[in-house]
Parts: sequence; structure tokens; C-alpha cells
Amino acid sequence: MSVDLSRVSGARRVSFPHMGNYSIPVKTLAAELDCEIVEPPRMTRRTLELGARHSPEFVCIPFKYNLGNYIEALEAGANLLIQAGGGCRFGYYGEVQEAILRDLGYEFGMVRLVGGFSVREHYRDFKAVNPRLNVRRALQAYRVAIRQTRALDRVEDHVRRNVAFEAEEGAHDRVHAAFLAELDGTRDLRGIAALEERTLGELAAIPAERPRDLLRVGVVGELYVLMEPFSNHFVERELAKRGVEVHRFVTVSAMIDHAGRKKHAYLDRMIEHADPYLRYHIGADGTESVAMTHKLMREGFDGVLHLKPFGCMPEVNAMSALQRLSREHTFPVLFISYDAQTSETGLRTRLDAFCDMLRMSKDRRTGAGADDAPAALASQGGR
Ligand code: SF4
Repeated sequence: MSVDLSRVSGARRVSFPHMGNYSIPVKTLAAELDCEIVEPPRMTRRTLELGARHSPEFVCIPFKYNLGNYIEALEAGANLLIQAGGGCRFGYYGEVQEAILRDLGYEFGMVRLVGGFSVREHYRDFKAVNPRLNVRRALQAYRVAIRQTRALDRVEDHVRRNVAFEAEEGAHDRVHAAFLAELDGTRDLRGIAALEERTLGELAAIPAERPRDLLRVGVVGELYVLMEPFSNHFVERELAKRGVEVHRFVTVSAMIDHAGRKKHAYLDRMIEHADPYLRYHIGADGTESVAMTHKLMREGFDGVLHLKPFGCMPEVNAMSALQRLSREHTFPVLFISYDAQTSETGLRTRLDAFCDMLRMSKDRRTGAGADDAPAALASQGGR
């Protein structure tokens, strides 16, 4: 049984961990439980400190952030927590976190969505919480949540690629913030489509100064640190501040597109892209990290950032292949490993050096700059 309500007394107040702005579609789904929704407070240093204090030291950093979110949500009155699960250590998150929180003395119920993206299994779990839920209502909530997710990903993808070149500082952020506020309350499919179209139009109309020889960098790695900006110290925005067009391919929309029956065909495609650096799927997002880096290199990108939580085995496996790829093609890859002690200052210094190197390397290739620029930099963080 993945739903335990035996310890919930009184009105149910449901909560879930943060991951980027996906709390908006998650709230759409959680509304079907007919419970009050308690969104955890925004991520702060305190969230990480709480999570790290009560977690096993060597567990990966997403576990610690999730646990910090739960503690803050329970402090804010939540008594029913939702956790998902996946094919690596993520599959054990829910049970271990539940045990830790119980040891800390919290009384709550837990919904563990163990069926990946299986709507059928989610429906069964949600129905255990809310017996009034019916299939029609649940499917409609799914449609809306998926549509909100797609709108969110398209808008944020546009911002990522263009914010570095805005003529007026803050223009993209203003449109983005207004979009999020409106998306949060929009639960009809046409309304979401109209909002997406209008927002993309407004973003496209922002005056921009794009240099002809701009730097293009892809960001690959483990999905949580890719999609939760607080956990990666806002690395995409830091790149943009250095004049970089940023591309990322791991999003919840992409995960939905490749889930279920399409998963095997997708992984086969990734293995093809990763050839000759990988022959087998290496778990979680590791295969995509190698495949997308190889693909971006062939497409003429200037470099790649590889982000991973300290000790994340699938991404540690990907690193050996990425190091070989980087060496053989003199293609710049910057490895960044995150844990509770990651220093923001150290990260900025490394980004400065990486971007300077990319710029010199590009100027040399295009004949615009220094002759003595290094061809590549493969900088390795801890495993
Ligand atoms: S992919 Fe890595 S960091 Fe993420 S849950 Fe799995 S082991 Fe942990």
C-alpha cells in the first residue's frame, strides 16, 4: 500500500516538495484530493540546513532539499505529504523520509506515487485519499496539469535562451513573473493556451541586442539539480549574466514525452547519440547527459555544463564518458557537483574562468581574438 492515512487526524492539509515552478501543475493535481493545499515556503538556506541536519550524510542532495521542504510544510500545518519515486535512490526517498520524519515526532500521512508516470496508478493512490474522485475528473486534472507544464516549459525555455541579450535589464523577469501568477489560477485548457501564446509574444517583443558570435552552452545532468534553480545556485542565470545563450533539454515536458511505452525507443535513440561513448543505459539521466553532450558538440555548441549531486551514481558513470569525449574532441565540459557545502563564490569563479575560456576559444576559431587561447577546459568537481 503506498497510501498511509492512519495517522492523519482532523482536516487534511496536503503538501509536496518544490522543484522549480512545477508546484503550479502539482497543485492542480493535488486539488483533486479535496484537501487544503499547503505549499512549502520558498526554498532558502534554512530549507537545506533542516534537510541536511536530519538526513544521512551521504545521501544525494535532492533528498535533503525534499526533507527540508517537508519539515517546513509540516511546521506550516501540513499533515499529508506526497512523494514520487524513480529508478535510482529516488525510489527509496518516500520510505526513508517518512521514517526520519516520524522519528522527529511528526504525525502525518504519506502518499507515495510509486508508479512513475502511470496515470492509472496515480488515480488508485489519489482515490484512496479522496473516494469521491472519479476517472473523468482525474483525467481532466491530468490534462490541465500537463498543459500547464508544457506552457511553463516553453516560456522558461524562451527566457533561458534570450535573457542574456535583453536591452532593458529585468524585462524577461517581469513578463515571466506575470505569466506564473496567471498560470497559477488558470485551470482551463484554452485559457492556458491563450496565456502561453500571449506570453511568448510579449517575450519575443522585448528589445534585444544579440551579438553575431554569441556563446551557446548546453546544460545537462541530474534532473533535480537541473530543474530546481535554488539547488544549482541559479547557474543558468549566472551563465546568462556572462552573455551566454543557455539550452536545457531535461524538463518535465520531455519526461512526459518519453514516458511509458515510448521509453525504450527513446533510450535506444539516446544510446545511438551517445555512441561510441556508451553502449548501455547507465540509469536515471546519465545516458541523456552523454547523448546530449555528444549531440550538442556536433551541432556546434561552444561548451556544456554537467551538473550533478555529489555521489549521484548515474552521473558519476556519465562523467567518465564525458571526460573521454571532451579530451578526444577538445570540447569544453565544466563539471559541477553540488552538496550542502557547495560554495557560491567558488562556483562563480569557475563560471568566470569557463566563460572566458569559451570566449577566447571562439575568438581564436573565428579569427577575432587572442592566439594563445586554450582549446578546451575540462574542469572536474568532486564525485
Ligand atoms: S539521479 Fe542521482 S541524485 Fe537523483 S535521486 Fe538518483 S542517485 Fe540521487
